[in-house]
Amino acid sequence: MRIDRFTQKMQEALQSAQDLASQYNHSEIGNEHFLLALLQQPEGISRPLLDQLQVPVDQLQQQLQIQLDQRGPNFRRLAKNGVFLLLAVVLGNVFLSYFVGVHALRTWVTEAPARHWGGFMVMGVTTGLVFFDFAYFREQMCTIICPYARLQSVLLDRRSLIIGYDEKRGEPRSKGKSRPGNGDCIDCQACVVACPTGIDIRNGLQLDCIACGQCIDACDTIMGKINKPIGLVRYASQDALESGRPNRFLRPRVAIYTGLLLVLFVALSLVGRRQQADVTILRGIGAPFSENAGDTVNQIRIKVRNRSDSPRAYRLELASPIGAQMIAPENPLLIAGGEQASTSVFVSLPTKAFQGGRLQAQFRVSDGQGFIANIPYELLGPQGRAR
Ligand code: SF4
Ligand code: SF4
Repeated sequence: MRIDRFTQKMQEALQSAQDLASQYNHSEIGNEHFLLALLQQPEGISRPLLDQLQVPVDQLQQQLQIQLDQRGPNFRRLAKNGVFLLLAVVLGNVFLSYFVGVHALRTWVTEAPARHWGGFMVMGVTTGLVFFDFAYFREQMCTIICPYARLQSVLLDRRSLIIGYDEKRGEPRSKGKSRPGNGDCIDCQACVVACPTGIDIRNGLQLDCIACGQCIDACDTIMGKINKPIGLVRYASQDALESGRPNRFLRPRVAIYTGLLLVLFVALSLVGRRQQADVTILRGIGAPFSENAGDTVNQIRIKVRNRSDSPRAYRLELASPIGAQMIAPENPLLIAGGEQASTSVFVSLPTKAFQGGRLQAQFRVSDGQGFIANIPYELLGPQGRAR
């Protein structure tokens, strides 16, 4: 076969078919490679021809890609799915860590799944869903499930910056090449082929658009090839595209949205700020107090949950009342990251200090690393009652 006798376009298509075969790790070039290469030619005639015959070209192209993807022992496909699975497992674990914390997750992954089957199931289901999305569902996630586009359509107005097609410049389009008197769009479909959600941006902004900008790059490449200025598809507002006036960025809507976002950010930061530890003070089990040689002794349990990831030593102190003595067998109280512990302390002071059987006290718990909690507590003495 004398390839040099073929037209330039045919030689390019053969080269593209060969590239496709090696890209899919196939040992020979088949009809599917050749047909796909023809359909992907930016200024080729196959696509317009099939369009005229009312063949659904986008679907045909998608089917060809799927067929090539599934053909033979495809190491590329295996490797791709392996990477997807790895990413899905990582994301499944990250999702689980939101609920159980990083410290617990670190322990769980070193232990048998049967010991934490609930957490393991959450991770497994999340991994399965993410893998399904990456490997099969793909852009349908954007077009069917993701609320981004719906939200976007509510927030935009005619002066919002969108990805738009310059109809005034592009129309009337001419198939295959630019002709005098026609617009700059040569109806090559490169923008449609590049679009991950399969829409034609020339029909205006649509809900499916995820603003990825791939149609802009595809069209700019074509414009470069036919020696026309880039930007037939570009970032612009509907207003600017229709009137030719420059985009106006500073508008009341932009200021209001910025303000609302700031408020949301501050509110989320406040909600997200959590204490590094929780301290609970409880009365001791049994009698609330005991008397000994003119002194009253309260037994109290102090429970601390360390919410940080590292071990902490919590110092327990009695800030008031003056003259009271605290006996704490475990002080400081050592607690591993993410764990909790409790200890008993005894507060002793002269019985005469009690007014009506009650006396206000204040405990202080600190970890020497910025966490300090002052907790009021009511001591009980003779004539007092436990609440
Ligand atoms: S921006 Fe992305 S999703 Fe939107 S039309 Fe262009 S290629 Fe398609
Ligand atoms: S807008 Fe650009 S990429 Fe899309 S069909 Fe027209 S010339 Fe081709």
